[in-house]
Formats: sequence, structure tokens, C-alpha cells
Amino acid sequence: PLPTEVRTFWKWLCDEKVVSSTSPAKPGTVPEGLGLVAERDIGRNEVILEMPKKFWINPDTVSASEIGKVCNGLKPWISVALFLIREKLREENDYSPWRNYIDILPEYTDSTIFWSEEELCEIEGTQLLSTTLSVKEYVKNEFLQVQEQVILPNKRLFPFVVTFEDFIWAFGILRSRAFSRLRGQNLVLIPLADLINHSPSITTEDYAYEIKGAGLFSRDQIFSLRTPIPVKAGQQVLIQYDLNKSNAELALDYGFIESTPDRNTYTLTLQISDSDPYFDDKLDIAESNGTKAVQYFDITLGRPLPPKMLPYLRLVALGGTDAFLLESIFRNSVWDHLELPVSRDNEEVICQVVRSACQSALSSYRTTIEEDEKLKGGDLDRRVEIAVGIRSGEKMVLQHIDGIFKEREMELDEYEYYQERRLRDLGLVGEQGDIIFWEPK
Ligand code: SAM
Repeated sequence: PLPTEVRTFWKWLCDEKVVSSTSPAKPGTVPEGLGLVAERDIGRNEVILEMPKKFWINPDTVSASEIGKVCNGLKPWISVALFLIREKLREENDYSPWRNYIDILPEYTDSTIFWSEEELCEIEGTQLLSTTLSVKEYVKNEFLQVQEQVILPNKRLFPFVVTFEDFIWAFGILRSRAFSRLRGQNLVLIPLADLINHSPSITTEDYAYEIKGAGLFSRDQIFSLRTPIPVKAGQQVLIQYDLNKSNAELALDYGFIESTPDRNTYTLTLQISDSDPYFDDKLDIAESNGTKAVQYFDITLGRPLPPKMLPYLRLVALGGTDAFLLESIFRNSVWDHLELPVSRDNEEVICQVVRSACQSALSSYRTTIEEDEKLKGGDLDRRVEIAVGIRSGEKMVLQHIDGIFKEREMELDEYEYYQERRLRDLGLVGEQGDIIFWEPK
């Protein structure tokens, strides 16, 4: 049986003629919370619902609302967050139709932003933990600002106490339900459509949703949602949320992860040190080639390294007898040289640097991959399961990176380095690798 709020919500949409008894899908209770369940067999790419613009919640909705004036100039997500909070905290007798929607929103998800300290301990040492803490810090600062500048000075519009918990709730709602990548709509909540859950086994994002004109004679827009695969009556309609999000992003945004290997990533931060004697030249070269003094590289399990990573590493490590490559006469060609091993010393340094960074990162986790693997498949709490997946995933990527550089380290004697390439290019090295001396006439 459906919760009362959901039935009220559906009735509201029926009364508004947005849905009807012949709609192909209806809200239902499913393992992921609420979801959309097929009322009949639905074919691939069939539209399952259409939501007119009037029911969307985006910064324009807020501008046109009672708090529009005081929200002018706020970041889009903050104005929508204030709108949601206000609709949620309004007195019962102060009726607003949005109440129908607000009442079906979850109080929280399993996103790491909602985890307790104890739960966060399970991801100690992970990049996800530091991202989660930075995100919360960011939201906290934004909250303190908007509290001082908008909420407290406008007691009439906000006649209730707004806490940081309310603000984090609204942030979590937006992160997990707002549709992005839509024509002209960077941040929009679409009631009903946002009940759709994610399926890891759907690997196409195409055409699941779009904004289109409401009809030939109408300037209104509607949001239309399709099912990417055929669905049998009684089954849940699902879509792929985002093929490009890593498990860390999925955990932070939605509170779930996938077991697909290439969802596991680790971000390496490399930088040209301020104290490097060649800092200025190196920075100039880095910047002319689309990299920065501090550069992030996202490494994905089982995938090759990002193309600019090795050249950048070689640049960072460049010194000693290789430093001549930094001279300005080489400026146009130096990156090409860096694409290939420069010298044995340089190549050895980058292997050592990366490997020791991996080892040190690996030592900061509380568990080993083997321990995590044993836990997997057991009867785990959902959040612990996410934690185990995240921490073992990060460690697997670190081992993957370490493995790549371990192999390179063993091949150091087999590479061709700058000096040899140069001799070859000058025609001074023969096929067999011996230096050909020419006889001066
Ligand atoms: N289930 C949501 C509800 O009850 O309101 C509706 C979907 S909402 C856009 C996204 C949220 O649904 C996520 O943050 C997560 O809590 C849940 N969810 C969606 N797909 C999921 C999945 N494959 N596994 C676990 N949770 C999922």
C-alpha cells in the first residue's frame, strides 16, 4: 500500500490533469525508496510521463515566489534550497500546493553528507572522506552567510528557525534529484520525474529525458521522460543516471555505488614545486600545454593513464643534465620530447615518486583489500557496504597505478631516451644500433 503522502501527491497531479488513470507509470514503494512502476507493458523509448514547466522548481520559480525579491543574486542552488526549506517549514495552515511535493521527499539519503562520524570512520583514509568533509564545510559557510544576509533579516518570510541540518537536507535533495545537462536548465527539480531510480545495467543515457515544446500552438515547455528499455507491467521503470560519475561521485551525490570496475577512480595531485629552481620555465611549459602548477589526474581502474600525465611527470622531475630542454629554444618542441622518456634518471625518478606516493596513500587506510573483499557479500548495512566498496576501489586503483610504474621501472633499460632518439634522427645510429662514424673528407 502506498504511503498517504504519495497518494495525496498523485491525486494532486490527477486534479491538475498532469497524470490520469491511463498513465503508463505510477509512484510505488520499491527497494530504493519510492520509484516509478509500470502500470502496463511499456515499449522501449516510450514516454512515461510529461511534466509542464508550471510544476518545475528552478531559480525562476523562486524568483516568481514570495521570497523572489530577497533571493535575488543568490547562487541558483541556494535560492532553490531556501525555497524548499521554506515550503517544508511553513505552518500547516499556510497552504501552498508545493506541500504535496515536499511531503514525498525523503528526509535523507545514504549520501556520505548524511553519515554519522562513526559511519565516516569506515572511509578513513579515502579521498571520498576528504571530499565529503570539504563539501560539508562549503555548505556550512554558505549557510552561515545566507542565514545572516537573508534568513534572519527577513523574519516575516522566514518566521521559523532554519538550521544547518535543514540546509544540508536541501543540498542533499538537490544533489540527488535535480536534473542537469538540460537545454537552458542547469538546476531544476521535476516532481514525479524525480522518482525515477538508477539501474547499473542500463548503459545508455540517450533520450531518457528532454525538454520540448508543449505542442504546436503552445510556447510552454514540458519535461518528458522515456524508458530506455522495455518494461513489463508491475516492474520498475529505471534509467542510467550518469555514465561518467565515479563511485565516489555516486556515493556523494546519491548514496549508492556500482560494482562496475571502471567506476573506481583515484585523483592524483601532481605539482611543480615553488622551490624548484626551474619553476618559471616549467610553469610556462606546463601552461602552454594545458596543464597547471597544480594538476589533477583522474585515474580509472583498468584504464590507461591520462595522456598528459607522463609528460607532466617528466617535466616536474626534469633537472640535472636534462635541464637544457627547458631552454627557450626548445619551447615549441619540449612537450613532444616529454611525451617520450627523456633520460634514464628522469624516468627512474618519476617511477620512484609515483610509487612512493601510492605506497604512502595505501598505508593510510585502515583495512587491506583482502579484508574488504572478505566483508563484501556479507550481510552489511547499506552505508558500510558503500564504505567497503569505496575504500577497496580506491586501493585497487592505487595498486593499479603502482603496478604501471613498477613495470616501467623494470623496463628502464629498454627505453629509448632523448639522446639516442636525437642521434637516430640525425642518422647517426644504424639499424643495428651501432653508431655510424663518417669519414671526414
Ligand atoms: N528513490 C527516490 C525516492 O525515494 O524519492 C527517487 C529517486 S531520486 C532521483 C534518487 C535517490 O534514489 C538516490 O539518492 C538514492 O537514494 C535512490 N536510488 C536511486 N537509484 C538507486 C539505486 N540503484 N540503488 C540505491 N538507491 C537508489
